[in-house]
Amino acid sequence: MSIAATTESVHVRAPGKINVYLGVGGRHDDGYHALATVFQAVSLYEDVIARHADDFSLTVSGVDDVDEVPLDDRNLAMRAAKLLAAATEYPGGVALEIRKRVPVAGGMGGGSADAAAALVACDALWGTGLSAARMHELASRLGADVPFALHGGTAVGTGRGDQLNPALARGRFDWVLVTSEHGLSTPVVYGRLDLLREEEGALADDPPMSLDVPIPVLQALRSGDPAQLADTLYNDLQAAALSERPDLAETIDIGIRAGALQGIVSGSGPTIALLCADPEAAQDVQTALRRSGHEALHVHGPVPGARIVV
Ligand code: ATP
Repeated sequence: MSIAATTESVHVRAPGKINVYLGVGGRHDDGYHALATVFQAVSLYEDVIARHADDFSLTVSGVDDVDEVPLDDRNLAMRAAKLLAAATEYPGGVALEIRKRVPVAGGMGGGSADAAAALVACDALWGTGLSAARMHELASRLGADVPFALHGGTAVGTGRGDQLNPALARGRFDWVLVTSEHGLSTPVVYGRLDLLREEEGALADDPPMSLDVPIPVLQALRSGDPAQLADTLYNDLQAAALSERPDLAETIDIGIRAGALQGIVSGSGPTIALLCADPEAAQDVQTALRRSGHEALHVHGPVPGARIVV
């Protein structure tokens, strides 16, 4: 190990994600559900700046609800830095600065992006030079969505969402994101799904413990045709998220009436992702949503994963 003492700070940018497809199976004994998902990294980024320090510290700024972000060892970026230090026996610490744009508890994997960015930033700052395989391994120990934030692009996630395989996606997809002032807790939304399934009755089949992404989703991504992808957007958590936040159904309707091809709850919500035919259509959808009092952002995907900003 060589310590890159000459580098004073490292700035890394990592993207938030949308789940273009999210199939949720049964619950494993460890509490995680079996998943089959397609992630797409989009152009809404977290910035993490790492500076040399004797111990570990963290500041967070950016989005309105930064006070909901823990600054101690519960923070995924802090956990990432400490995990890398332990794995490489790095003797020092780091001062991390997080500038957030991805909504907190928004279903877009903001905390996971921070963790991936912190891993890349500390590896460069400390000169620990981890291989891609070892980085992936540490990322998956931090959380199921962290490996994807490291890799970016478009990828299929199976197992608990952390077994990643790149998916071929042609072209660019334009999305309008509608964010919410208050987040939704991921465990609460999964718990609601389990309840809804119980209520569906004993006659329904048990949810499968191993799932695949349907072929038409992968074909639509390969085609690069947003209209084709719009027909295959799907989220098993949507009903659960809508039962926590019934107003989101109306948000999707406003977007579709303004010209979006389709709308979906992103991950466990409450962020809504509306797929549009092109940048002009996205502009119209964004304007309509803003006029009706919503916070709407136009982003595109796929974009790369955690990268050093030079
Ligand atoms: P998930 O990845 O579970 O879908 P999410 O994208 O909905 O999560 P995040 O913003 O990643 O939401 O974080 C969810 C919770 O994790 C927050 O409410 C917060 O308490 C905690 N958390 C830990 N580290 C971070 C971080 N770096 N940024 C934001 N939240 C964090």
